Amino acid sequence: MIDLHSHTNESDGTFSPAQLVAEAIRSGVTSLGVTDHDTFAGYDLALPVAREAGLDLICGIELSTKLHGQSVHLLGYFLSTDGLGEFRSWIRELQAARRDRNIRLVARLQELGMNITLDEAERRGRGMTGRPHFAQLLVEKGYVPNLRQAFDEYLDESAKGYVYRREPTFAEGVKWIRDAGGISSLAHPIRVRGEVRALMPELCEMGLAAIEAYHSDHSPEHTALYLDLARRHGLQVTGGSDFHGAVKPDVSLGTGCAGNLKIPEDLLQRLREAAAKPAA
Ligand code: AMP
Ligand code: FE
Ligand code: FE
Ligand code: ZN
Repeated sequence: MIDLHSHTNESDGTFSPAQLVAEAIRSGVTSLGVTDHDTFAGYDLALPVAREAGLDLICGIELSTKLHGQSVHLLGYFLSTDGLGEFRSWIRELQAARRDRNIRLVARLQELGMNITLDEAERRGRGMTGRPHFAQLLVEKGYVPNLRQAFDEYLDESAKGYVYRREPTFAEGVKWIRDAGGISSLAHPIRVRGEVRALMPELCEMGLAAIEAYHSDHSPEHTALYLDLARRHGLQVTGGSDFHGAVKPDVSLGTGCAGNLKIPEDLLQRLREAAAKPAA
């Protein structure tokens, strides 16, 4: 079994990198992509553990990007070690921008009467402290009953606590991944607002390499639609559970929600071959 989309507690998952590797072994996942948000820290820590355990670990990342004003997630895989140095410094800039936003977010939440400090948030999120960690804090401190309401009332773009953070555009993300020799993939297209079909020519023009047709949130009909789009536009196909551990308890590594995920293993070989080819 393969799973090309998972998170550790180096971003917003709850499993440590070592626990994620153990979970992969336990679940019968033989090739695992670690795709933390805007960081390789989880992958880096998981790698020696995976080697020891005989698990094929795939280096990935999930970037938050902006596309026509909406936040769209972009996966990157198989970045070559050559280009990775520059890519890593670019990621560090993104992290610095997020930290700057977090300072302003804390100020805004305090202004709204909440007793919250940056330190508390960073104890949960460390290098990749993001809005999900602030949401957890708001719940723990009893300001809202659940994570959904934390976003709806305070943290969502339309909510009263929201503060702006510059995110790279989707096109920038695609280009960075491509220049680093990697494969970019449109993450969970089901979450893109509007018609994905109509967006495809533009995304392909930007150099998008793949689409995540298999995902825990996709019905068989959605998967069929995205496979069709991949075929029409000559894109590769990726797939994964988007495992986050205890914060998304319904999602299991490799098999998704109640076994709804069945990722064909041969797509991995195709991705590897595509990544080995120099970008046209
Ligand atoms: P950040 O990168 O710190 O701005 O946080 C963005 C992350 O917060 C996204 O990757 C989502 O996981 C989560 N998020 C953003 N908006 C919402 C929302 N309305 N409901 C739930 N989670 C959200
Ligand atoms: Fe996440
Ligand atoms: Fe995502
Ligand atoms: Zn994800």
